[in-house]
Amino acid sequence: MTTVMKEKTDIAVLKQFIGGEWVEGTGKRTIESVNPSDSRQIVATCKGASKADVEGALSAAQAAFKGWKATPAPARARVLDAVVKLARRDKERLGRILALEEGKILPEALGEMEKGINLLEWYAGEGLRFMGSTAPSELPKNLLYTIREPLGVVSIITPWNFPWAIPCWKIAPALVAGNTVIFKPASNTPWLAMELVKLFEEAGLPKGVLNFVVGAGSEVGDSLVEDARVQAVSFTGSNEIGVRVHTLAGKRGIKVTCEMGGKNPCIVWKDADQDLALAGVVKGAFGSTGQRCTATSRLILHEDIADAFVKKVVDAAKAMKIGAALGDGIDLGPAVDRAQLETDLKYIQIAKDDGATLLCGGNRVEDGDLKHGFFVEPTVFDRCTPKMRIAQEEVFGPVLAVFRVKSLEQAIEYANDTIFGLTCAIYTQDITTAMTYLEEAEVGMFHINSPTIGGEAQVPFGGVKGSGVGDREMAKEGIHFFSKPKTVFLDYTGKKRESNIY
Ligand code: NAD
Repeated sequence: MTTVMKEKTDIAVLKQFIGGEWVEGTGKRTIESVNPSDSRQIVATCKGASKADVEGALSAAQAAFKGWKATPAPARARVLDAVVKLARRDKERLGRILALEEGKILPEALGEMEKGINLLEWYAGEGLRFMGSTAPSELPKNLLYTIREPLGVVSIITPWNFPWAIPCWKIAPALVAGNTVIFKPASNTPWLAMELVKLFEEAGLPKGVLNFVVGAGSEVGDSLVEDARVQAVSFTGSNEIGVRVHTLAGKRGIKVTCEMGGKNPCIVWKDADQDLALAGVVKGAFGSTGQRCTATSRLILHEDIADAFVKKVVDAAKAMKIGAALGDGIDLGPAVDRAQLETDLKYIQIAKDDGATLLCGGNRVEDGDLKHGFFVEPTVFDRCTPKMRIAQEEVFGPVLAVFRVKSLEQAIEYANDTIFGLTCAIYTQDITTAMTYLEEAEVGMFHINSPTIGGEAQVPFGGVKGSGVGDREMAKEGIHFFSKPKTVFLDYTGKKRESNIY
């Protein structure tokens, strides 16, 4: 079922934020943010950044570092507190921008707003807990302790699929820890990114502490990693770009964390509560149009329940209401842009060619005004096998690959058989089945009787294998990535040391 709703907007004109000033980019390219629900509508434009603009941002961040580092951590955190209040004030407006620019349906867009606010809130609290530890010394009248210090100028590079929450979960710990930041969002979602930076400005963040550059990654990306002033890079995006960023940063020996793609499996076991499992699979596979790093893209079913369960998934997929992100009662919004739409359709064709059985979907939606957007039907392929490309490569769209297995051992073997290792789920009523999978799962996050998606500020988020390299994000891990310990040996004996313990 399909529906459309258009929202009238003026085109937002975006700028770069360098050294506390909003300035026009001096790059050759004009970046246009297009409404993926209706590509006739350009929602924002921005003159792209040049290398000179990045240079300006780096200089500003470098100049601001000393003062920001010297600002007590609780005072740094108070700026975050203020941003939390402003974000709550503007939540509805920003959620609509998110829906308009990225195509996430409004309820999910507002959910992402709340998630980002939770993260800002949590890290504001961390400003009061930015501490090291003490340890007993081998020596009398000696105090051993650690303090944590910021790294310096850090680059934050983010993808389009969580254009609010991911910048929040990176910028907040970076700032609380006392770093100065160059923030580069994805080129197809710069508007919401700029709105976030404006909140920091309104909250009173000193000039130069947070700088914002909008530009193509291929043009400005390398400078954000290779410049000698950059002390750390926090990247989220595709495996391809992440590996490149990691290699470049590694050559310089600086800290780097890259959160990348996923091919997340959900095992539904023969004893599962099927209604619960169905709700989790549908949300995991088709929520946010499958454009989550944590999306369920592989469904592994015990053969005893496979026929019945697959039918339920297909019925649910067919019942989804497809439409514009700001429409009423919509279940499935568009792909983010034409390139992602084409990727979805390409993988659908590849799966067919590889011999998977198409059960539903498989087409672009072109009814009425939807032809102007980038809509793809929720798609289910049955009888997939582990070596098919649909089983191995991230699609990042509403496309679910179903596998049938005879034993838990085979289910776990299939689940682990990809280069990725972000998240997974199992639906079962048997604790031994769940714990057996938990012990074997090659992932960073494991869900029992809940969908593969989700994260919370107070626990680490991230993957293993091709899904993540470097420190985890969120929680204390986020603060630890953006800071370094300094170990202090304080001897208050006032005498020459007699011990030979060094
Ligand atoms: P992408 O890799 O194309 O782009 C990510 C960012 O990198 C963008 O800001 C882009 O402009 C920039 N970039 C591009 N080329 C660059 C270069 N040479 N140097 C430096 N930066 C460069 O990813 P995307 O399409 O924006 O996002 C989708 C991907 O992100 C998916 O693979 C998804 O799984 C992944 N993702 C992972 C997580 C996670 O936490 N693991 C979360 C969200 C998204």
